[in-house]
Amino acid sequence: MPSQNIASASPHVLIFPLPLQGAVNSMLKLAELLCISEINITFLVTEHIYSRLIRHTNVMSRYPGFVLRSISDGLPDGHERSGARYMEMFDSMKYNSKALLKELLTCGELEQGGRGPVTCVIADGLMSFVFDVAKEINISMFSMRTLSPSSLSIFFSMPQMIQSGELPFTGDDLDTPIKSVPGMENFLRRRDLPSFCRSNTLSNPSIQLFKNESQENARTQGLILNAFDDLEGPVLDHIHASCPNIYTIGPLHAHLKKKLAGTSYYRTASSNSLRKEDRSCMSWLDSQAYKSVIYVSFGSIATVTRDQLMEFWYGLVKSGCKFLWVIRPDSISGDGEIPAEVLEGTKERGYIVGWAPQEEVLAHNAVGGFLTHSGWNSTLESVIEGVPMICWPYFMDQQVNSRFVSEVWKLGLDMKDTCDRVIVERMVKELMIERKDEFTKSADRMAMLAKKSLSEGGSSCSNLERLVKDIKATAGVVHKEQQ
Ligand code: UDP
Repeated sequence: MPSQNIASASPHVLIFPLPLQGAVNSMLKLAELLCISEINITFLVTEHIYSRLIRHTNVMSRYPGFVLRSISDGLPDGHERSGARYMEMFDSMKYNSKALLKELLTCGELEQGGRGPVTCVIADGLMSFVFDVAKEINISMFSMRTLSPSSLSIFFSMPQMIQSGELPFTGDDLDTPIKSVPGMENFLRRRDLPSFCRSNTLSNPSIQLFKNESQENARTQGLILNAFDDLEGPVLDHIHASCPNIYTIGPLHAHLKKKLAGTSYYRTASSNSLRKEDRSCMSWLDSQAYKSVIYVSFGSIATVTRDQLMEFWYGLVKSGCKFLWVIRPDSISGDGEIPAEVLEGTKERGYIVGWAPQEEVLAHNAVGGFLTHSGWNSTLESVIEGVPMICWPYFMDQQVNSRFVSEVWKLGLDMKDTCDRVIVERMVKELMIERKDEFTKSADRMAMLAKKSLSEGGSSCSNLERLVKDIKATAGVVHKEQQ
């Protein structure tokens, strides 16, 4: 029977994601999984994220042990916090949020309601200032990376790439092979590295950030990844060399769904969305034939120019396939309106929404393909539903994810660095018609492996059990030290 004593002796984890939709998504899912395992959670986000999340999520009302808190990122209200100005947020948080976080963790405020002190911190591995604070106040820390393990492996290899002269690039041949990332020697090219590597100077702030912060992950007690072993085996072996204790517990969204199914929390689906979903596309999908629709979405950050949008649109229409297309109101750079001809000309074959319930869309049996920007969440959401992909990566890990989708996992086609209506049309036909059986077969096989990892005794399921045990042990450590 829970008593005040037991409650205050229970583990209390502070989770702090990067202020981005994809990162908030997966860390909120981790938070839910830990809540189900009776661990108290303080989910800390920047005030900017808080104001958007609070409008759409229902997670606070689902778990008694869950508390949502916010902290300033130190930037003024009107700051864009996106695109080219995104990097300013890292600097600002490092210098402004660090002191605020220390104050929050030590002032006793988080202990209200008999929750006891925070016994452990889980933060995005790109925010090493959180680990500095955890070390200063002597609590356990775990890092989580919400990007793909393959990109992480690249970040860990950056010192070797610099040493061998592969970074920075000289000349402009993007097909030059990259040989310094273990296990990827046979297929990695310059164009598959994160796009910030295309800079011709090592002083590029992103190169510095990802190279330096990634080395910090080794300081933590363990590294949590949204991945499963059968998908990323050889890459994980390489990461092990830097971080010996890895918890691969993904695909997180499906893992959560599976765990919720047997609990009293399974009343309504939770939403982690920072935007309002337009669910009308679900009834449109209901009226479409089996696997006949290609779903098109470039995630929460990527933008397209008006010209690129028109290339996609002509390519989609000319392919003859049905399409469901997410065009976020803020996704067209420059002149921000969806052109009238696109809206009008789409009526016959397509459906456009500003934001879709993507997990449900990908699980719908009318969806037979996904034209994606290869964000890691989107990739995993597609993998577990067995939906083949056409990849049009925008930045960060997306460039290498798309290479893995096409060359390693054989789950689709890579369209990176082009945006041409003829290529769009050709690839949509290839994916949806000409090579449909081949891609569906490999996508079904990978989906089966993903599901196996989540079943009793599967790798992700066992790793989550181990993580919960290790987190619970942190409460014991704190309380022993306090006695
Ligand atoms: N997403 C969604 N509705 C949309 C588009 C995207 O719910 O219309 C979700 C998607 O399911 C995924 C996240 O937004 O979980 C995007 O994350 P991802 O890592 O794929 O890309 P990012 O937005 O970080 O570039």
